[in-house]
Amino acid sequence: PLALLKDPTLLKTDALINGQWAAGGSRFAVHDPATGQHLADVANLGPADAEAAIAAADAAWGAWKAKTAKERSNILRKWYELLMANQDDLGRLMTAEQGKPLPEAKGEVAYGASFVEWFAEEAKRVNGETLPQFDNNRRLLVLKQPIGVCAAITPWNFPLAMITRKVAPALAAGCPVVIKPAEQTPLTALAAAELALRAGIPAGVLNVITADSANSVAVGKVLCASPVVRHLSFTGSTEVGRILMAQCAPTIKKLSLELGGNAPFIVFDDADIDSAVEGAFASKYRNAGQTCVCSNRIYVQAGVYEEFVQKFAAKVATAKVGNGFEEGVNQGPLIEETALQKVERHVQDAVAKGGRVLVGGHRLQGQFFAPTVVADAHADMLCAREETFGPFAPVFKFETEAEAIAAANDTEFGLASYFYSRDVGRIFRVSEALEYGMVGVNVGILATEHVPFGGVKQSGLGREGSHYGMDDYVEIKYVCVGDV
Ligand code: ADP
Repeated sequence: PLALLKDPTLLKTDALINGQWAAGGSRFAVHDPATGQHLADVANLGPADAEAAIAAADAAWGAWKAKTAKERSNILRKWYELLMANQDDLGRLMTAEQGKPLPEAKGEVAYGASFVEWFAEEAKRVNGETLPQFDNNRRLLVLKQPIGVCAAITPWNFPLAMITRKVAPALAAGCPVVIKPAEQTPLTALAAAELALRAGIPAGVLNVITADSANSVAVGKVLCASPVVRHLSFTGSTEVGRILMAQCAPTIKKLSLELGGNAPFIVFDDADIDSAVEGAFASKYRNAGQTCVCSNRIYVQAGVYEEFVQKFAAKVATAKVGNGFEEGVNQGPLIEETALQKVERHVQDAVAKGGRVLVGGHRLQGQFFAPTVVADAHADMLCAREETFGPFAPVFKFETEAEAIAAANDTEFGLASYFYSRDVGRIFRVSEALEYGMVGVNVGILATEHVPFGGVKQSGLGREGSHYGMDDYVEIKYVCVGDV
């Protein structure tokens, strides 16, 4: 699939340190999850390279923060334009290494680029404050300054957007970054870095350390332990988030964490059922269920339960599974064998505990899993507790609003939640009662660049995107001027 790139020079396989492509001492293989085909051998860097990247970032920091906000904004704007101008190639790289259908991949390129556009604009609005003095001989100022060298560790499910959502605000604020992309999807990250260089981002301001899974752990330790790195942003599993948080404790590093979810999707008796079916499908099966905001548990009120279940199963049965490069496919492969095993374990557990399979329920050839709906799910099933991260929708029946809220909140996670209702009182009541960072009401998809994305409880810390997304990358300094 990579032979068809319009600009073959976007296929980068070396890491980027201080504006130089670094081959590293060894390489690791990247595969197409749809076909198993070998795509490329990428530089496998280790702890010493991570130290070099941190040093390069630190050295580049002074000149980068000394640029005016408008100068940084213009460079980011240029990067945004180059990302969009190369949308087709970036989409192709992404489908090849990640598996998501090509139209969805191109959609992610636009979504990922939109963070660069947004923070190019926000760069000019990092405003400080003056406060009323408590003594007329003094003046009180609040400055906002870039926090310093930032590290970003990103996952494979959004190979571009999870990078730009962290890197764009960091660069906009005046911070250099060291990125450690997921080992499954380094090619999209490296192509984006090449475009950053073309946009004029100076050497050392943006560094990419590619590494296989073993080296990722070692590189992660260096990024966490370094006193030069002032901020770590991570998107990935709660389990790894906990490890990174502990590793960052000795240096009291600022953290932005976007971790796992266990999103409830609630359909009340007063919902528009057809719209709820569409929303549930979009929310559950996007990226073959591999997003942290995908619905994990679908709760349907008794009065509309059978109607919803039948219509939803019929909708899911129309999903087209296949290679993301094929026309019409909307369900690609899962990222790796362990992902398939987890979905299979959740489905088998649900069936063993009385679940009713309405569609799918099994693996297909290769790394594909049949889109699955299991009705009559209940709280004792694994799928009620754990994030499946695959194309399996368990449907639970409930009687009362209070019961639905209690079930939805009965989890250590708190990222996205969804519900369908046409009762205005219930819309406010339930929105306020759900212990989640994000609530979609009568929608199945809610993320965009200018809204605060993030979770509560063990789903993470901080918010990405929106004007709040800049906060983690600036320090507030109070200046008290006397003798005025
Ligand atoms: P997922 O479940 O989405 O694969 P992970 O949390 O395992 O998410 O991985 C997300 C990112 O974190 C990847 O870039 C991966 O290489 C990295 N990673 C995984 N384990 C560690 C670790 N112990 N230390 C540092 N980075 C890690």
